[in-house]
Amino acid sequence: VIEISQLQKSFGDLEVLKSVDLTVRKGEVVCVIGPSGSGKSTLLRCVNLLESPSGGSVTVGGTDLTDPDIDIDAARTRIGMVFQSFNLFAHLSVRDNLTIAQRRVLKRSKAEANKVAEQTLEKVGLGEKIEAMPSQLSGGQQQRVAIARALAMNPEVMLFDEPTSALDPELVGEVLSVMRQLADEGMTMLVVTHEMAFARDVADQVVFMAEGYVVESGPPSQVVVAPTEERTKQFLRRVL
Ligand code: ATP
Ligand code: MG
Repeated sequence: VIEISQLQKSFGDLEVLKSVDLTVRKGEVVCVIGPSGSGKSTLLRCVNLLESPSGGSVTVGGTDLTDPDIDIDAARTRIGMVFQSFNLFAHLSVRDNLTIAQRRVLKRSKAEANKVAEQTLEKVGLGEKIEAMPSQLSGGQQQRVAIARALAMNPEVMLFDEPTSALDPELVGEVLSVMRQLADEGMTMLVVTHEMAFARDVADQVVFMAEGYVVESGPPSQVVVAPTEERTKQFLRRVL
C-alpha cells in the first residue's frame, strides 16, 4: 500500500533523508526506530504530504504523491495520522472533533458522521466521553480520541509518530493496546516508536534508521532481537 523509493528530503543544506526505501504491504505493521534526528518524523511527514520530498517517490494506494497533478486533499483522506502531541481541537467537544472532517471533507450527513463517531469511540473504549471536552480527558484518553478521529475517516493506512512518548508511563499501555487491536484487525500501519516491546511483538517489519538512511530492516526477530549492523546494536543497547 505504501511504496517509498529513494526518498530524499533536504531543508536548505541539511540533508535529512538521504535515500530511503521502504514498503508497507496491505495489513502490515511496520515500525520505524532510530535515534533522535535520524529523520523518522520527516519520513512520515513526506508520506502524509506535510512535507514535499526533494527527490524519489512515495506511492500510497497506487497514487504517486510526488506527481504535481494529484488531488492532495483526496490523497490525504486515505491516510490517517496520529501525532505525539494528540493535536485535538481544544475548543471542540470529542463529538465535534470526530465529526468535523467527516462532514467537511467526506461530506457525510450529520447523522452518518455521528454514527461513525459513536462507533469509533466505542472501539477505542471511550463511548461515554463523546460529550467531553479534550481538557477533561487524560493524555491517554486524548490520544485514543485522536486515533478514533483518524479512524472515522476510514483511512487505508494509519501513520503514528511516537504516539505514546508524551504520555505518563501508566497511560502508555491503553494507547498501545488500541494500536494492537487495530493491527489485529488488519489495519495497515506505519509506526514511529520507541516502544521496543510493541515493535518486537506487533510489527511485521522493523526499520532502523540513522542519519537519513535505512541501516537495517526486516522482521523484529532479526532487527530487534538479533541485529547484524553495529549501528543498530548500539542503538538497542541504549534503549533496551
Ligand atoms: P526524534 O526522534 O527526535 O523525533 P526524528 O528522527 O523524528 O527525531 P526529524 O524530526 O525527522 O527526526 O528531524 C530530522 C532532522 O531534520 C533534524 O535535524 C531536524 O532538526 C531537521 N528538520 C526537521 N524538520 C525541519 C524543518 N521544517 N526545517 C529545518 N530542519 C528540519
Ligand atoms: Mg520525530
